[in-house]
Amino acid sequence: MNIHEYQAKALFDKFGVATPRGIAATSGTEALTAAKSLGTTQFVVKAQIHAGGRGKGTFKNGFQGGVHLVDSPEKAQETAEKMLGEVLVTHQTGEDGKLVRQVLIAETIDIEKEYYFAILVDRETERPSIIASREGGVEIEEVAEKHPEKIFKEFVHPTMGLQPYQARKLANQLGFTGKQIRKASSLFLAMYKLFIECDCSMVEVNPLVLTPDGDVLALDAKFGFDDNALFRHPDIAAMRDPEEEDPREVEASKFDLNYIGLDGNIGCMVNGAGLAMSTMDIIKTCGGDPANFLDVGGGATESQVKEAFRILLGDPKVKAILVNIFGGIMQCDVIAQGIINAAKTVDLNIPLIVRLEGTNVEAGRALLNESGLALITAETLADAAQKAVDSVSAA
Ligand code: GDP
Ligand code: MG
Repeated sequence: MNIHEYQAKALFDKFGVATPRGIAATSGTEALTAAKSLGTTQFVVKAQIHAGGRGKGTFKNGFQGGVHLVDSPEKAQETAEKMLGEVLVTHQTGEDGKLVRQVLIAETIDIEKEYYFAILVDRETERPSIIASREGGVEIEEVAEKHPEKIFKEFVHPTMGLQPYQARKLANQLGFTGKQIRKASSLFLAMYKLFIECDCSMVEVNPLVLTPDGDVLALDAKFGFDDNALFRHPDIAAMRDPEEEDPREVEASKFDLNYIGLDGNIGCMVNGAGLAMSTMDIIKTCGGDPANFLDVGGGATESQVKEAFRILLGDPKVKAILVNIFGGIMQCDVIAQGIINAAKTVDLNIPLIVRLEGTNVEAGRALLNESGLALITAETLADAAQKAVDSVSAA
């Protein structure tokens, strides 16, 4: 799960990570009130969407930039009104862009230098890893590609946590001097505490800034949280903004389905994460592209199968559906009944390829055969994947 920048600021405040003061607003009037209450004359108005690159983004109405510096509360209002209700396209949103429903009005900070700072979980070392660079405010992927020597990494022992010497080492590598070192390293330590205590999967601050007065602050924030740990953080879970999420995934989560939306056109309904992964792999090997990962689970009910099927059919990108079920605990006849019920409530106008194997497979196949649905049946996984890919390319 991700959160908005204004929500991240609240977490920064809670954990003592230095960040400029700011208030979220959903209308021009709210923006005016927010700006006035900050008690300064210089403001930054920032579009709140779950994507970066806002500064260089463009609104579909032609307005340039989702991050604007203004010098009066009235101009903050005016700028907020240009952004609210408009769609912002950045290099991270895709061409559809994202609708701006809220803006952040924050006090501006004079910037001496911009840095990059992130904490994420490194799979290779199986440790939280800190990534930092003197090249901030720009795309880190580009820095990593062209100047890998400009990126510093620090791995953190999972139980020992980030050590003060490691934080100071990073501050030195980034070129901080004198009192800045203490400010930067205490920010790093606070950030790490936040990362661990909130069960984050990623925290990215781009830019981290040094001010002319020698202060070090987090100016931007992007957070990812481990969904499986959200039950431990009702306050963070409450920050979820379903408007920002893939509507297919929001729908699937209502029915406890393990669903992840992808860009391909073959909808997959599989039981078991491992089988779902191999089904996607085999579709790829056959030259196709899966539209989703979907594990209906070992003990899916008929209604879950029906909902899963409905979600797949509701996706306009899906041009064929591949059902691949191994009935172990899950029974093939339950799956079959779910498919039939779902197909009755919707107009099944795309090819449906079904491969069933395991418990009650005969009863399942019989139900499907008697249903009158136009199915393509398959015996093996490879056969099923090939038929799905063929039916899409034939269409
Ligand atoms: P992003 O484009 O979505 O990554 O949004 P950021 O919050 O990173 O803002 C983009 C850029 O705007 C930053 O890299 C800064 O250069 C600039 N910016 C943002 N806030 C301030 C501010 O308070 N003062 C100044 N001088 N620049 C700012
Ligand atoms: Mg940024």
